[in-house]
Amino acid sequence: MKGHTVPASDKELVRIEGVHKFYGSHHVLRGIDMTVKQGEVAVLIGPSGSGKSTLLRCVNHLESISAGRIRVNDELIGYRERGGKLHELHVKEIARQRRNIGMVFQRFNLFGHKTALENVMEAPIQVKGKDKSSTKRRALELLDRVGLSERAYHYPAQLSGGQQQRVAIARALAMDPELMLFDEPTSALDPELVGDVLNVMKDLARSGMTMVVVTHEIGFAREVGDTLTFMDGGVVVESGNPRDVIANPQHQRTQGFLSKVL
Ligand code: ADP
Ligand code: MG
Repeated sequence: MKGHTVPASDKELVRIEGVHKFYGSHHVLRGIDMTVKQGEVAVLIGPSGSGKSTLLRCVNHLESISAGRIRVNDELIGYRERGGKLHELHVKEIARQRRNIGMVFQRFNLFGHKTALENVMEAPIQVKGKDKSSTKRRALELLDRVGLSERAYHYPAQLSGGQQQRVAIARALAMDPELMLFDEPTSALDPELVGDVLNVMKDLARSGMTMVVVTHEIGFAREVGDTLTFMDGGVVVESGNPRDVIANPQHQRTQGFLSKVL
């Protein structure tokens, strides 16, 4: 039990239905169905190459999909549907949808010539046209929230990997997203830096943020995940309550995978 201060609602914030993805003739996602309710933390695990990153990238339309539907807050992502056919949205519409979906990658991709504070302030000012003083106040609050108020004026090169990743999380939050996607946010970090990043993510989960998290951190899944989904070969092999899936996996492929990461 993660002790939500904000209870998860019954509203389905993310609805993925029958999603297929081909890269050329390579069939990478083979009919994915998944829903995430508002305020839930959905953890996604699976072997390398199983399609986890591709699925996350489809959710904010960094990748197109070959079939199916992805909806966030009832809005079709990346497409408009007409007569049963999907037509890709204009880039401006796609950008508007993406603003509502924060994404944190394995590599932090901070602007190296900007301070932590400037990195967090960049998108609200450039993309949302917010004024500088209120954006700065909010950015400082967010840096405080991720435990980096002392580091606001440091450049990425002066920060540890874990600190940079926490800046990246603050930067994503600065856009006030409704949904946060995390793609192995701790797998590039030295082991001693993983805990601080996971703690920030746990805090975010407790605040009621809806999150989809790809990770090999099974402890995180058990502690804060509302659901645990195991993918292999572009399909969802099984999904359920994290404790049940971990203690009692129903499929041999899940058992085999868990025995390697536990
Ligand atoms: P995971 O994140 O689970 O490791 P990925 O979604 O990154 O898996 O990759 C799934 C499969 O899709 C892999 O076989 C990978 O090689 C392939 N793939 C991923 N991205 C591309 C791409 N841009 N072009 C072609 N193939 C890709
Ligand atoms: Mg990946």
